[in-house]
Amino acid sequence: MATVTSVDSQKILSLFEKQKIRSQQLRSEGIAERKKRLRALAPFLLKNRERISEAVYHDFKKSSTESDISELYPVLTEIRHALAHLDEWAKPQKIDAPITYLGTRSEVQYEPKGVCLIIAPWNFPFNLCFGPLISCLAAGNTAIIKPSELTPHTSKMIAALVSEFFEEDLVAVVEGAQDTATHLLTLPFDHIFFTGSPAVGKVVMKAAAENLTSVTLELGGKSPVIVDSSANLADAAKRIAFGKFLNNGQTCIAPDYVLIDESVQAKFVEAVKAETVKLFGIEGEISESSPSYARIVNQRHFDRLNKLLQDALEKGAKTELSGPANRDTNFIHPVILTQVSAASRVMQEEIFGPVLPIISFQSIDQVIATINGKTKPLALYIFSQRKKFSKQILAETSAGSVGINECIMQFTHPNLPFGGVNTSGLGKSHGRYGFLSFSNEKPVLKQKSGFSIPYLLHPPYQGFRKKLISLMLKWF
Ligand code: NAD
Repeated sequence: MATVTSVDSQKILSLFEKQKIRSQQLRSEGIAERKKRLRALAPFLLKNRERISEAVYHDFKKSSTESDISELYPVLTEIRHALAHLDEWAKPQKIDAPITYLGTRSEVQYEPKGVCLIIAPWNFPFNLCFGPLISCLAAGNTAIIKPSELTPHTSKMIAALVSEFFEEDLVAVVEGAQDTATHLLTLPFDHIFFTGSPAVGKVVMKAAAENLTSVTLELGGKSPVIVDSSANLADAAKRIAFGKFLNNGQTCIAPDYVLIDESVQAKFVEAVKAETVKLFGIEGEISESSPSYARIVNQRHFDRLNKLLQDALEKGAKTELSGPANRDTNFIHPVILTQVSAASRVMQEEIFGPVLPIISFQSIDQVIATINGKTKPLALYIFSQRKKFSKQILAETSAGSVGINECIMQFTHPNLPFGGVNTSGLGKSHGRYGFLSFSNEKPVLKQKSGFSIPYLLHPPYQGFRKKLISLMLKWF
């Protein structure tokens, strides 16, 4: 049984030690074994499709179809993509030799890092445990996973699935809250893959520094959407409404706020209101019985969002769309705001809920100054038909990923890296980039026997050697 339910330091240490031994064995295991494991995992997860969606539904009423799309499908895609490309990713990469290395042969080998720790958040609780796990296994490592305590049904289901499919010295789940994570972080893991808030990301990085463990930090922040006057407003409204209110706005790359050219604001506001109701409502209304609309994860976040909203309204925001909210069921109707003050909390903090502030601009310089005045976002979206407009925004701002005339879809593209910059993240995940995060890129240089060029650089440094070194400095 590969599950620990409270901070049981002996049990955790014993798991870690067992995985240390197994990770050593994995180093000499062939790629075929890794593929065999991944090949078997896909049908196992598919067989458990209902169990996965039921657990997620119990945690925050995410519809089973949304679970299929946003929890299970990205993991299956990650497996299929790894199976199709692992041979090529793991193959030592031959490296050309410059003239000064004549006679040598070099390559980069991809070795497993060893025992890895995966700490996951609650918002895509299955996807963000198993997604990184696929990269971790593809690279030949073992893993201890700590799911989020805020989605207890999913955490329990993940622990059960893992113990049914894996030996505990290969993959194990340790359930628990902050104290459990804190304890895990004292161990000298070979890599830590953390997904969560920037605040906890700093805690993780500090703890990792104690053991000089490498980290991948997938964090969050305020992801802006810019809509310029040339944008196809109908498309923009549809895609922004989907990206924002999917998962009830609790998506790391959800559009956090919209910057809109003031000449098209009124038209866009009407379009995005209509699309929101069309996508998430039934018979023209979004209510607690809307089957495609998830809930806020818990009352703490319900209260946080309520305070954020009250603060925006007190600072002069105008409500363009809203509806009922129910603290007992953590239901919040989508909210769209205009005339939002830059000083209000919705423009200072990551919203992470179904509240969309829309702010008008008159010039591209204003847009760039607003974005650069905040920490670097995880995602940035541009809706425009003008290449020059997009090009200038791309050149003069920084972001983890960019969508042009699209939202969210960059996350699931198997050939694109995913990650943030500075406060929105460190390192990349998905596909080959995820494989690389969990691998040590080890350069190996092979020299031939007998005379070799480096002999010419050995001391004593006089006569011909001195001349040669001068020549080398000048020409090679
Ligand atoms: P969180 O940082 O509160 O928690 C994430 C994980 O860290 C949980 O497993 C939690 O138990 C653990 N944790 C909490 N406090 C800890 C501590 N002091 N020390 C060690 N571990 C600790 O994040 P959350 O509320 O679960 O998720 C929301 C955040 O995650 C948002 O900021 C969102 O943008 C971000 N996020 C990022 C991505 C991404 O891929 N970049 C994906 C999803 C969510």
